[in-house]
Amino acid sequence: MSKRITILGGGQAGLQLACGLLQHGGYEVKVVQNRTAEDMRTGKVLSSQCMFDAALQNEREIGLNFWEKECPTVDSINFVVPSPDQPGAKAIDWNGKLDKPAQSVDQRVKIPVWMDEFERRGGTLEIKEAGIADLETYAASSDLTIVAAGKGDIAKLFERDAEKSPFDKPQRALALTYVHGMTPRPEHSAVCFNLIPGVGEYFVFPALTNSGACEIMVLEGIPGGPMDCWKDVSSPQEHLARSKWILDTFLPWEADRCRNVELTDANGILSGAFPPTVRKPVGRLPSGRLVLGLADAVCLNDPITGQGSNNASKAAKVYMGAILAHGDRAFDAAFMQATFDRYWQYAQFVVGWTNALLTPPPPHVLNIMGSAQAYPALAKRIANGFNNPPDLFPWFAVPEEADRYLQQLAA
Ligand SMILES: Cc1cc2nc3c(=O)[nH]c(=O)nc-3n(C[C@H](O)[C@H](O)[C@H](O)COP(=O)(O)OP(=O)(O)OC[C@H]3O[C@@H](n4cnc5c(N)ncnc54)[C@H](O)[C@@H]3O)c2cc1C
Repeated sequence: MSKRITILGGGQAGLQLACGLLQHGGYEVKVVQNRTAEDMRTGKVLSSQCMFDAALQNEREIGLNFWEKECPTVDSINFVVPSPDQPGAKAIDWNGKLDKPAQSVDQRVKIPVWMDEFERRGGTLEIKEAGIADLETYAASSDLTIVAAGKGDIAKLFERDAEKSPFDKPQRALALTYVHGMTPRPEHSAVCFNLIPGVGEYFVFPALTNSGACEIMVLEGIPGGPMDCWKDVSSPQEHLARSKWILDTFLPWEADRCRNVELTDANGILSGAFPPTVRKPVGRLPSGRLVLGLADAVCLNDPITGQGSNNASKAAKVYMGAILAHGDRAFDAAFMQATFDRYWQYAQFVVGWTNALLTPPPPHVLNIMGSAQAYPALAKRIANGFNNPPDLFPWFAVPEEADRYLQQLAA
C-alpha cells in the first residue's frame, strides 16, 4: 500500500521532495501551500536563490530543471574589499572560477511551474494557510507529515535549538533589488561579492526573472549602520534609488555598472530582517502526534553566503533518501531525528561558515581572504566552497589549519 506523506509548504524543499517522491512511486503526496501559483507569479520577489551545481544537480535528477537553457550562468565568485584609506580603490580583489556554473531562477518563475508539475505527477495540492489544527488533521491521516514552511510562523512549533543558534536577533538588514540594464562584467559572469568592513555586504549576479534575464542586487546592512536604511522607503523607485545611493557611497565600481538600471517590475524589491535560527527537528502537536521539520523551517541561515536554497535542495534530497530507505516501517521520532541528523552532518558546516561571516572576521579569515589574491588555487577553492561548504573546513575555522594551508600554498 502507498505511504501517505503530507508536506506543509511548497517552496524549494517541499516541492522538490514532493515531486521526487512521486517520480519514485509508491507514495500518495499532498502539498499544502498558502499561495496560489498566480499569487506567487505576480507577487513580491522572495529570494535571490543563487544555486550552485550540486543543488542544481538534485533538480536535474528529478526532472525539475526546466530553465537550464534560458537562465544565465554564474561562472565565478569575485571578492572585493574597498580600500579603507583610498576612496574609490580596492584593497582586495580576486576572482575564483567555479568548476561548474551556478544559476538563479526567480522563485516567482520556478515555484508556480513546480506546483503544476507536482499535480501533473499525481500529487494533491491544497491551497490553505495551515495552522496547528490543520497539522493535527494531516498528521492523523498521514504516515508522515513534514513542515517545510520556510520562515512561516508555523515553524515556531519547533523548539529553538539554543546550542546551535548563536544569535537571537537579526544580524543584517536585508534588501533585494531586481534590475534590468546593468553593465555586465567584462569577462565571465560572477557573484560579485563586496565586503564593506563595518557597514555590510553587497553582492550581485545574473538571474532569470518573469521578464527574462536580469541582475539581482543583494544588500546586507549591519544593523544600525548606513546600509540599515530601508524602513522609511515608501515606493519601488525610492527602493531603487536607495540601492544606488549605497553603491555611489561605498562601491563606485559597482555604481558604474548601474548607471542605466531599471527595476524589473514594481514587485522586484524586498526588505526585511530575521535572526538565523536552528530548531529541533521533531515537533510535537497538542495531540502528541509528531511532525518533522525540513529546510528553513528548522535550519534558517542569513543569506550572506547564498546557501538557503542550496540547503533546501540538499535537505530535500537527504530526506527523500531516508524515506525511501525506511520502507514500510513507521516514521517515528527516531526516524525523524536520524533523518535531520544526517542532514545536519552536512548543514553544520554551512551554518558555521555563514555565522562566521556575520561577525567581524578574525585575523586568520582576513589572512585567507587577502591571500586568495596571490594564490589563484585558493581563490578557486573558496569559490567552489559555495558549492560544497564542508571543503572550507577545518582551515576556514581553525587558525592553525589556516596557517598550515597557506604555508602549503606558499611552498
Ligand atoms: C534576501 C534573501 C536572499 C536570498 N538569497 C539566496 C541565494 O542567493 N541563494 C540561496 O541558496 N538562498 C537564498 N536565500 C534563501 C532561500 O530563498 C531559502 O532558504 C529557500 O527558499 C528555503 O526553502 P524552503 O523550502 O525551506 O522554504 P521556502 O522556499 O520559503 O518555502 C516555504 C513555503 O511554505 C509556504 N508556507 C509558509 N507558511 C505556510 C503555512 N502556514 N501554510 C501553508 N504554506 C505555508 C510559503 O508560502 C512558501 O511557499 C535568500 C533568502 C533571502 C530572504
